[in-house]
Amino acid sequence: MKYLIILLDGMADWPIESLGGRTPLAVARTPNLDFLASRGIVGRVRTVPEGMAPGSDVANLAVLGYDPARYYTGRSSLEALARGIDLLPGDVSWRANLVTLTGEGPFETKILSDFSGGEIPDALAAPLLDAARPLVEQAGFALHQGISYRNLLLARGGSTGTITTPPHDIQGRPIGDYLPRGTCGAQFARLMAQSHEILSRHPLVRSGKTTANCLWFWGEGTAPQLPGFAALRGLRGGVVCAVDLIKGIARAAGMQVLVPPTATGGMVTDYAAKCEAAKALFAEGAELVFVHIEAPDECGHHNDPAAKIRAIEAIDRDIAGPLFDELTQKGEPFRLLALPDHPTPCAIGTHTAEPVPFLLYASPAAEAAQARGPVPGGSIPGDLTLPPRGALAYTEAAAATSPLRLPSGEALMSLLLR
Ligand SMILES: [Zn+2]
Repeated sequence: MKYLIILLDGMADWPIESLGGRTPLAVARTPNLDFLASRGIVGRVRTVPEGMAPGSDVANLAVLGYDPARYYTGRSSLEALARGIDLLPGDVSWRANLVTLTGEGPFETKILSDFSGGEIPDALAAPLLDAARPLVEQAGFALHQGISYRNLLLARGGSTGTITTPPHDIQGRPIGDYLPRGTCGAQFARLMAQSHEILSRHPLVRSGKTTANCLWFWGEGTAPQLPGFAALRGLRGGVVCAVDLIKGIARAAGMQVLVPPTATGGMVTDYAAKCEAAKALFAEGAELVFVHIEAPDECGHHNDPAAKIRAIEAIDRDIAGPLFDELTQKGEPFRLLALPDHPTPCAIGTHTAEPVPFLLYASPAAEAAQARGPVPGGSIPGDLTLPPRGALAYTEAAAATSPLRLPSGEALMSLLLR
């Protein structure tokens, strides 16, 4: 048996007036997903546990069958893993954004005008980090360069409990009310102010080559302690992705990762390359392949329903269709699951936590194999009602009418593998 999960990040949406009250998924031409829905089942699953923030970190952990309430230990530590930095028990990490502050006067009155330092290129970020590094190291921390503005602060054997603010949440506001508090709060606020002094004087900033002039610490994390996917589910798992966060989750779960060099993690990507990477993982012996596509989420963040429709259509045409054909030709029984991790409604440009629609298809041979009983780690709710196959289209509205409502990603993984 083979299992394929197609994860359309942030795809789920709300009805949009300019689309005649329909969602991008409902409007998009998706002959392949439509075919799968006409022979499969559609339902809804809660991927973000009550009280947790609807981040892609939390929601993708859930879809891979890990309860975020138990296993989520922060975003920065997953990104550290993706960059090959090993976090040991006791280590603490934070995101160290290169941000832009503007305004005269004392540090606390400065305005956080860009959380990304003008999307600073790596080549400019490197010398700025070199300039700030001695300050950070003297205080007992390490500073690692990441991609663009997304760098990493690390304390070997550090303390948790520092309360921080994501800089993208306070753009245009004075920073005084949002400086770190808690365990390392005073120390972090001092280091951030000192980094601002150093970077403001840097030749690259003075000459106007970059606006990034301060380090901003947030997103505390500790070493993820996920049980290995293979040990937990008895299956060899592989992941195709572009963004560090998913790469980090896959590494933490001990899954093989393929990042196609032409995949972007942006609003448009090389969909065909992701499809080929998934085929390669299956060919190398992976039994479950998780293909993550960031594009629909980015379109949601940019409030762009037309781009989201194009992304969904491209995923249907260049990933869902060819992978269905490939698995069918191989003749092995397979199950295919398509879903978003969370909604990113274009109207608000950010994530929400409500349950997401999923589509589950089983090949005829997989249907026949279904009676073999529970699999390791299975926990399907006892009162589960499955809708008749082919009864519902794969849209948010249709899924909302389905009797199939799963309380967690773990339950969905159990349904997929049962
Ligand atoms: Zn997002």
